[in-house]
Amino acid sequence: MQRVERVNPNISPIMDDIDRLYAVLSEEQENTLVYPQFDSSLQGIVDLFNRWTRSEWQISGVAENYPSVDSIENNNLILAFSGGKDSIASAIKWKNAGYNVYLYHMRHINPSFADEWKCAKRSAELLDMPIFFDDIKFSGHHMYMEHPMKNMIIANGALSYGIREGITTNIAFGNYTSSMLIDNPFDRCAGDCMDMWDSYNAVIQRVLPRFRIWANLENMGETLGLLADRTDLLNSSLSCLCRHSLRDYRRSWVKSKFGIDLFQNRCGSCYKCCVEYIYLADKNKVPFNEAYYKYCLGQLYKVAQSEGVFVVSLYHVWDLFTFYPVTESKIYEQITKARLMIRSIKWVK
Ligand SMILES: [Zn+2]
Repeated sequence: MQRVERVNPNISPIMDDIDRLYAVLSEEQENTLVYPQFDSSLQGIVDLFNRWTRSEWQISGVAENYPSVDSIENNNLILAFSGGKDSIASAIKWKNAGYNVYLYHMRHINPSFADEWKCAKRSAELLDMPIFFDDIKFSGHHMYMEHPMKNMIIANGALSYGIREGITTNIAFGNYTSSMLIDNPFDRCAGDCMDMWDSYNAVIQRVLPRFRIWANLENMGETLGLLADRTDLLNSSLSCLCRHSLRDYRRSWVKSKFGIDLFQNRCGSCYKCCVEYIYLADKNKVPFNEAYYKYCLGQLYKVAQSEGVFVVSLYHVWDLFTFYPVTESKIYEQITKARLMIRSIKWVK
């Protein structure tokens, strides 16, 4: 089972319960146990977790009376800031809307991305926004590629920081408002769905009645639209699913195979790198390289297959990963002609 240790403690005992629930739900093999020691208000989170993992966790504790927390309502906003493209785009959009944006980064929450905090620091400098680094330690392991409650652990830290420092209780994430659990075919993004936030909001509202997590981006199209002309921020962001230790190797392979100069911190082969390239090439923001463009589309096809999606056509691949009409693709004609094979795409000349 995974344990969560915070350097800066949570501001309310109900947040400690969320941390404890994260730890308990990290193990799959005991998934039918009834846990009587949890506050019953956590059941909403457990229900969503069950739906996602097809488990049958139950909690049966009695609702406790937690001390309430005073809200701090003002024009300040704390944005959970990974240093990825979405959090950067979100920061720009909140600033444009007139908020004083404070960035919050939880270090070491992604052990595979050891350099994440450095990208966050550089991006914060370019955005000219203050950033606070919080530290957390995990011990043990969990069963999920990405724990569906990971963002709740971060939200606990961000809210505690905001209250402790007297900044605000307005907390935001760079999530997509269009992302719901039921529409999400991929295993690894459960924690980014808005219904996960609804379940978290309901728990925190026990102690802070008007609380809710704010999200201001509709989809990846909005993120890329906000960053398309900011080469500096594209370079400072960490937007790649490939682990740090392998990224340079993959990147140099892409360079030698296609002659492509990628932005920094990109592997060039994961779905995030591929979607980014396709979009920026279609919008004439980076040079169009047909062979690499096709390679990217092929990578997306492989990702969909590996996630168990029954892919019927390249249009289908396009719909799964992109957010603008396929007719705007630089290789629209070829997409219509390409034949899908069992393990690859055959491009018809
Ligand atoms: Zn990548």
